[in-house]
Amino acid sequence: MKCFFLFLSVFLFSCSFNKTKKNAKPVPKAVINKSNGDRVNENNLYSIPDGLSEDARNGIKRNIVYLIFTGKINETSKSSIIKGMKEVKAISKKTLFFKESAYLNKLAVKWQKECMIKRDIGFGKQVNYPKMLARLNYTMRYYPSSYAILIVDSDLTSYPEDYNNFVYGVSSYPRIIISTRRQEKNDLKHVVMHEFFHSLGLVGRKFDNDSGNEYRNNHCAYKGRVCLMNQVDVEGCLSGSEHSRLLSLERDILCPSCQQELEYICKYFKNLKGYNFW
Ligand SMILES: [Zn+2]
Ligand SMILES: [Zn+2]
Repeated sequence: MKCFFLFLSVFLFSCSFNKTKKNAKPVPKAVINKSNGDRVNENNLYSIPDGLSEDARNGIKRNIVYLIFTGKINETSKSSIIKGMKEVKAISKKTLFFKESAYLNKLAVKWQKECMIKRDIGFGKQVNYPKMLARLNYTMRYYPSSYAILIVDSDLTSYPEDYNNFVYGVSSYPRIIISTRRQEKNDLKHVVMHEFFHSLGLVGRKFDNDSGNEYRNNHCAYKGRVCLMNQVDVEGCLSGSEHSRLLSLERDILCPSCQQELEYICKYFKNLKGYNFW
C-alpha cells in the first residue's frame, strides 16, 4: 500500500501529471544539469511561470494565503503546515499573509463529504481531488488576490479520472490541496513547502537547448543531495529510504539549482514593469 505515495503538481488548467505512466508529458530532451551561479542574470534563461505572469498582466498581486482545514485536522498537523509556510515566506522573500476563515473551513467539510468516494478493498474512502479542486476554485473567486491551501484528513485520489492514489499534495496555481492522512509532522511541513514552491514557479527551469543545459518541467533531478523539489514517488524515482530521508530533512531543503531558479523568478517579478508583483 505504501508504494504509491506521490507529490503531484498540476499546472494551471492542466490535467496531465508528470509522474504517471500512461498520460505522462513528453520527457524533455536535455536534462544535464550544468547550471552555474553566474548565469542567473542572463535573459530568458528560466521559464517564467504562467500563473504568476497572467496575474501580473492583470495587475493581481497575490499576498494572502488562506489556510483551509477540514474537520479533523489536529493541532500538530496545523502547526507543521504553518511552520512550512513561514519557511516558504522566508526563503522566497515573497510578501505573504496567512489567514484562516471559519466559513471556508466549514465549506471544506461539506466539500470533503461531497467528493468522497468509496474504493475497493485496500483503498477505503478517498477524496476525489479534481472535484475538490473545482469546488475550491469556484469559491475562491470571491477571495481575490489570494492563494488557498486546503488541508484534508482523507486520502486523495484522482480516480475515476485517473489512477493517482494516496497523493500527498496537489498544486494547481493558485490552489493547493494537501492530505494529512498518511503523514508525520515533518512530512507535512515539507509537502506544503514543495507544493507552494510549485506555485511560485519551481521547477519549470529551462536552459538553452543548444548548449545541452538543463530543461525541466515540474520536478528537480538533483541527485547530489535530496532536494525538496524532487518528486517523491516510491514506486518510481526514489527508493523508500530516499523518501524517508527527504521527508525528514530539516535544513538545506532546496538544492542550489532550485534556489537559483527561485531567486531568478523573484527578481523577475520584483522588477516587472516598474512594479513589484512578488
Ligand atoms: Zn511536485
Ligand atoms: Zn532542486
